Amino acid sequence: MKDILTNDTFAILPGKLFTGSDKKIKTDKAVIIEEKKIKDIVDTEDKDLSSKDIDVLKAPQKTLIPGLIDAHVHTYSNGEEKRGEYPAKALTGYLALRSFVNAREDLRAGFTFIRDCSSRRYVDVALKKAIETGELQGPKLMVSGHGLSMTGGHGDVSQFPNADINEDLAVCDTPGEARKQARRQLKMGADFIKLHATGGSFGNGAKPGAQQLTQKEMEAAIEEAHKAGKKAAAHAMGTEGMKAAVKAGVDSIEHGFWMTEEIAEMMRDKGTVFVPTLTPLYRNKTRGGYYDDEKVQKEFKSKAAEIREAHLKSFNLALNKGVTIACGSDSGGGPLLRHGENAIELKLMSEADMDNSEVLLSATKVNAELLGIESKVGQIKEGMLADLLLVEGNPLDDISILQDCDRLQVIKEGTLI
Ligand SMILES: [Zn+2]
Repeated sequence: MKDILTNDTFAILPGKLFTGSDKKIKTDKAVIIEEKKIKDIVDTEDKDLSSKDIDVLKAPQKTLIPGLIDAHVHTYSNGEEKRGEYPAKALTGYLALRSFVNAREDLRAGFTFIRDCSSRRYVDVALKKAIETGELQGPKLMVSGHGLSMTGGHGDVSQFPNADINEDLAVCDTPGEARKQARRQLKMGADFIKLHATGGSFGNGAKPGAQQLTQKEMEAAIEEAHKAGKKAAAHAMGTEGMKAAVKAGVDSIEHGFWMTEEIAEMMRDKGTVFVPTLTPLYRNKTRGGYYDDEKVQKEFKSKAAEIREAHLKSFNLALNKGVTIACGSDSGGGPLLRHGENAIELKLMSEADMDNSEVLLSATKVNAELLGIESKVGQIKEGMLADLLLVEGNPLDDISILQDCDRLQVIKEGTLI
């Protein structure tokens, strides 16, 4: 055995191992990596291991877990800019560069795979390609292009009447237009279709969580996604729009504020996955929004705190009803939702009464299944890609240690980042 990593084949000997196949922690195991993939998991006493001329990374104080997956981010923004105006007025090249910087932050935070849940001018598609070819270093990506929205809806990001913005959006107002916009996203390289079933939580002039795309419009778009062997995700909060999205056959409900018992049961029975994104309202409540006016800021925070209470009820309802819960931070999706802080979502899920092992499974195996990449990543298993995270300490005892990047060593496809 050698002590330094000098070639493509090496072994990691962690103090603890969480493979993501079940809730258990294993000890005295070595994970052997060969050419980007996991070759084997053996006992540390294994004769072959000591006899082989193999590089070894010894980490007795650390836990080895699968690389984390974030099922809901927006790479084009880091939550620092006023959402509506900034991206619409920014140069496409600038958005692409920001996308790269933000995605790299996600990777540094231990997220080796991210799902970009709607972008601008296809910078997500371009970023994915540049990372896949190895031109840029970043996490693996699943991208959606533009999210489909009704005119003036949550994804109609020009949003301002008479705005001097000529952005090519996926706005649709009939089932035929929804079908066409879904086909356009797929043509441009989308891996899944994002739908805006409802408005946002704060309403912005309309009723918070009011339904936007109709069930028939969503059905047409979802049919196109499924025909192409891809999935569809719906931004949905508020009863009617969420129900319509589930009935239309969407694969995941994002956010899900104001979920009802009926919807939770429908989701469980249909296998619709819930991506709660607990981070945004927590950040809104604690950090506030973009407002300079102190009074407005205070009102925003207290409104967020109120909606958060309802959201936590939705989360617990889904948990108790047995809905599959995936993990997404919505980094970049709102004010002060910064990339690189994604792991707070795991802590918030834990604080909302989800068992730590379930939370870890949610951010690994369950997310991989939602994204349809479970044969490649999400578990530490023979034949899987070596996307791994070495964590100082044991995240099953204290999940918040994942928020400290200094305690993490990220390995993407067998390469230490
Ligand atoms: Zn989002």
